[in-house]
Amino acid sequence: MQETSVTKTGLVVGAHSADFIWRSGGAIALHAKRGWKITVVCLTFGERGESQKLWKDPSMTLDRAKSERQKEAERAAEILGVHDMQFFNLGDYPMRTSVEDVERLADYYQQIRPAWVLTHSLEDPYNFDHPEATRVAQEARIVAQAHGRKGTAAAIGSPPVFLFEPHQPEQRNWKPQLILDITDVWDTKRKAFESMDAQEHLWEYYTRVALQRGVQGARNSERKMKYGEAYQRVFPLVTGELL
Ligand SMILES: [Zn+2]
Repeated sequence: MQETSVTKTGLVVGAHSADFIWRSGGAIALHAKRGWKITVVCLTFGERGESQKLWKDPSMTLDRAKSERQKEAERAAEILGVHDMQFFNLGDYPMRTSVEDVERLADYYQQIRPAWVLTHSLEDPYNFDHPEATRVAQEARIVAQAHGRKGTAAAIGSPPVFLFEPHQPEQRNWKPQLILDITDVWDTKRKAFESMDAQEHLWEYYTRVALQRGVQGARNSERKMKYGEAYQRVFPLVTGELL
């Protein structure tokens, strides 16, 4: 009998079109390199709130800002090896989500059946779109688990949810509970950063974050790592043996 190998999948839900790059580009590149299929959902383009450089052009319009941000995000996604990208175009600053948006995202959960989910921190006093993205990502996950939604076969299991590292974690009640060694894919993540012209001011910042987490990752393990990407867990790690 021939063995069938099932491709593993991951889902990333970001409020704005560039969030997945800074915060989870390493995880995406690492898993894509190992054959995983990663889907990224961008709920908005970050056209109002995260496109400062574009708005220096006085002739900028919302539509142009959106299309510029989409192009940049698609370029970065290609570099990282993203399998599929979805733009919900909900409008940012402020971003609001509807029942239809939850259902649409729940449909993706049931189609993709992700082994894990990455999204924002639970709190963010500097940015209300981010925790709203977390809320909808988590609600859609729970909705997709409901057997009464599209039947038992469609219902998903319990993929772990990992929360991206935010700016100033202490202000967001966020703690690094998992540090991923992204040394092997650092060059890819940095290249993806550099495709984000609208946020050039963040390139060096996120390089410093990765170096800091790299040192902390090495300190907490036997790994000879230089660059790290940190996450907080939402649910307990379940294991049959203490490592
Ligand atoms: Zn954002």
